[in-house]
Amino acid sequence: MLSHKVHVKRNDLVKVITGKDRGKTGKVLRIIPDKSTAIVEGINFRKKHTRANPAKGIQAGITQQEAPMRTSNLQVVCPECAKQTRVKHKPLEDGSKQRVCAKCGGTLDR
Ligand SMILES: [Zn+2]
Repeated sequence: MLSHKVHVKRNDLVKVITGKDRGKTGKVLRIIPDKSTAIVEGINFRKKHTRANPAKGIQAGITQQEAPMRTSNLQVVCPECAKQTRVKHKPLEDGSKQRVCAKCGGTLDR
């Protein structure tokens, strides 16, 4: 199943475990499963040059925008115990799987 490859989901709080933003936390805004990357709010900013587009009310200049980063560089922060954790998959009675915190067993899916 595709969802098994990516351990983080949209709206997860994640912590960056490597790279220039190491130690920062942010909320997952978007997952790009094909590339195993995610866009995380406030993390991995890249400067982007914007051309003026008066029709859309856009001014020329440099804006900062989050760039995708590899999900393997991210760890989920558990909403129950507030620790960064590995994700375990717990089978449910209906055959689906729930993501749970490897540290406290609390659910990561809301
Ligand atoms: Zn936990």
